[in-house]
Amino acid sequence: MIGDVIVLLGAPGAGKGTQAQILAEKLEFAHVATGDMFRDAVADGTPVGLLAKEFMDKGELVPDEVTIEMLDERLAEPDANLGVILDGFPRNVAQAEALTEALEERGGKVNAAPYIEVSEAELVRRLGGRWICRAEGHSYHEQSKPPATEGVCDIDGSELYQRSDDKPETVKARLAQQLGVLGEVVEYYRGRGVLAPVDGSQPIEKVAEDLLTAIETVVKKEG
Ligand SMILES: [Zn+2]
Repeated sequence: MIGDVIVLLGAPGAGKGTQAQILAEKLEFAHVATGDMFRDAVADGTPVGLLAKEFMDKGELVPDEVTIEMLDERLAEPDANLGVILDGFPRNVAQAEALTEALEERGGKVNAAPYIEVSEAELVRRLGGRWICRAEGHSYHEQSKPPATEGVCDIDGSELYQRSDDKPETVKARLAQQLGVLGEVVEYYRGRGVLAPVDGSQPIEKVAEDLLTAIETVVKKEG
């Protein structure tokens, strides 16, 4: 029988991958990241992996049914009995509903959906603000790794520029779309009484601590 299932929610830039790893270690749960799951299934050449590869090779999105089937196979592995942290899934309400059904068939459910909340302005700062040097492609970040002199590479003195993908307007537009879909998934789990929001603007260790507390509170309340 499947152990506790934790769905970790957060926007890109919220630190979801890092926190999922920390939580999996502390709780001794399996960390199931959808990206890794795809790569493994394709590399192992499983039937569902080959099916997913067909879509990826065509540059198309892998349909929800295929992703769910892959996830269902992953959840059948023995380490899932200890508990699972899902990272990168579900991405929308249709996937969330499919996950609920797949878990019900295994006698399980989503026990907690911790949500790493970070303001849109902070996400734009984290995701944008990348500058690259023209000479060698050295990479800087306005917040986490600023150059000594604005607009100039520390190493070779060449000019720094922003790729169109890293410009605030582009980052904002992409983020707005992602936050809309995330908001629907957040509401889905709020409605099921398992949502556990945590302030994601804090340092990594504090966020991890709050996530653990939030998960324990929800799991206890649910019984
Ligand atoms: Zn440089």
